[in-house]
Amino acid sequence: MKAAASAQLRLLDLQAEDTAIAQLNHRKTALPEHAVIVEGKAAHAKLGASLVGIRTQLSDLKLEMEKAEADLVPVRERLTRDIKRRDDGLVTDPRGFAALNDEIEHLGKRISDLEDTELEAMEQLDSATAEESRLADEIAELEHSLRAVIAARDEQIAQANAEIGERQTKRDAIAGQMPADLVVLYDRIRVKSGGLGAAELKGRRCAGCQLEATASALAGYTSAAADEVVRCEECERILVRAAVER
Ligand SMILES: [Zn+2]
Repeated sequence: MKAAASAQLRLLDLQAEDTAIAQLNHRKTALPEHAVIVEGKAAHAKLGASLVGIRTQLSDLKLEMEKAEADLVPVRERLTRDIKRRDDGLVTDPRGFAALNDEIEHLGKRISDLEDTELEAMEQLDSATAEESRLADEIAELEHSLRAVIAARDEQIAQANAEIGERQTKRDAIAGQMPADLVVLYDRIRVKSGGLGAAELKGRRCAGCQLEATASALAGYTSAAADEVVRCEECERILVRAAVER
């Protein structure tokens, strides 16, 4: 392929823009915020599940307390009635009196058990309520810091995108001034070669693959006409003979 030496030199400007665009794209994907956000969201989901668990526990404990409270009502009423019957002297036969006393004792024990259950549920309710509030605080704090990290990520991506846009405009302007077939060749090599389509020949070294040309390859590079598009024998990139042309 033939192209004016000046157009070949512009390949280096085009390459500089493409390299900058590739670096900006890489910077976007390599932001440390990405990992922090993923971890934060996982922690948030875990805390959310814990909160659901503790709220279920809270409602169970409230039901338990209500049940114990409801169960106590008839037992207390019966105890009051029994005590009144005894104290009013309504039961006079010794057997009936003993049975009444047994029942009073039994009811007293039953009340104490129910009150114990209620008290225990109340204590558990207190600690579950404290845990619920601790979890809610932790979630709020995490959400706050996540929002800040997401904002920082978005800002950096927007910044990079703006810079990419500028570079792309410059790049397109440069490419527009160059022979189309040269740009097509350069782009094809660039995509295939990890982002570098054209490289300067610096002394004996190809700036693309960093290898020194053999004596015969170098002779070929330097003796080729100025408008001849030369390719590196090692990496096949377009070799821009800047030193020769300047
Ligand atoms: Zn090379």
